[in-house]
Amino acid sequence: MILTAVDRAASIDKAPDMPATASRLSAFTESVIRGTTRLANQHGAINLSQGFPDFDPPEEILAALERATRGPFHQYAVTWGAPRFRDALAAKIRRFSGLPINPEEHLVVTCGSTEAMMVAMMTACNPGDKVIVFSPFYENYAADAILSGAEPIYVPLHPPGFGFDPADLTKAFEQKPKAIVVCNPSNPTGKVFTREELLEILRHAQQHDAFVITDEPYEHIVYAPHAHVHFAALPGAFERTITCNSLSKTYSITGWRLGYVQAAPEVIAQARKVHDFLTVGAAAPLQEAAIAGLELPQSYYAGLRDIYTAKRELFLEILRKTGLPFTEPQGAYYVMVDISPLGFANDTEASEWFIRKVGVAGVAGSSFFREPVNHLIRFHFAKNEETLRAAGERLTRLGEFR
Ligand code: GLN
Repeated sequence: MILTAVDRAASIDKAPDMPATASRLSAFTESVIRGTTRLANQHGAINLSQGFPDFDPPEEILAALERATRGPFHQYAVTWGAPRFRDALAAKIRRFSGLPINPEEHLVVTCGSTEAMMVAMMTACNPGDKVIVFSPFYENYAADAILSGAEPIYVPLHPPGFGFDPADLTKAFEQKPKAIVVCNPSNPTGKVFTREELLEILRHAQQHDAFVITDEPYEHIVYAPHAHVHFAALPGAFERTITCNSLSKTYSITGWRLGYVQAAPEVIAQARKVHDFLTVGAAAPLQEAAIAGLELPQSYYAGLRDIYTAKRELFLEILRKTGLPFTEPQGAYYVMVDISPLGFANDTEASEWFIRKVGVAGVAGSSFFREPVNHLIRFHFAKNEETLRAAGERLTRLGEFR
């Protein structure tokens, strides 16, 4: 039987004279995404599993990083974010969302959206609370809920379109959840939630007095005609929305671990405490250098969208040649590919075969699903054209490796 990431208990043995570690840790495994990257590196496979670019951040950011190394930025920044960074961040968010974000009241700077999500969950939930997670989901969400003592409950997104059934959402809200997690644009599905879908989620959250925790790191990677809607900017949404976001994808700096929580002042006052005791703060010199990214003009974001639109076209063209069915992403840079025609017993076996024999790594789709779905592999295309073409050269002759 194939177990989902949540079910797969970490079967780590303990020595007889060793105390048992916390039982909540047996409810999930280490990240399959990060594990796939390690296996890909071990085998020298082209890594289209963990989503990060193999190209450099904008020159402005690199130059600012060099300057920052010689500046007074080597000690702790203000725990909830260096003031200059928060000013630039608030201005950038105001520019795109129209929300009157104030750097003093509405933001906590975190170590990536990963910390932001953990902070949001611990800020919103009491032990025993339920949290709605759409399935498939980015694997951190269930782990975040469990680590905060909450219980994830799931609403399926149905492949290939990855829409939800409104009746499922209604049923999930009847369980009186404390929060719902919305990843938009969605990792791993590439779905961009429509305004109507988001309003429907908001209506339920209002009716049941739940928080909406959003994860929006791909807000600038959306393909026409789709458009990103900032959940917090929907009418009546701000007070119950905890927005998590990161600079990783927008500025190609996934290793810098810069993210943030954005919420109403009362929520931020609590979130600051969680963040302070978790990490104290994000790296000071990197906050200073990333200001150059936040101050980039509008044309940068249009350029980013164009770059990813071209990569998407190139990669989808490669996938078409494989003959395998897949869902065209509306946003983000992931594609769920249906590997059932290859005849593997499951996706984990297939993913290992892709790494070892084909030399291209993708993530076993089952790690994102609550349901026993194991015919999908997630590939990403945040790579240089040469890398994508090299992967394409292998992917388009799969039959030879089988
Ligand atoms: N979001 C990226 C992915 O899904 C990776 C994020 C991470 O590993 N922290 O692959």
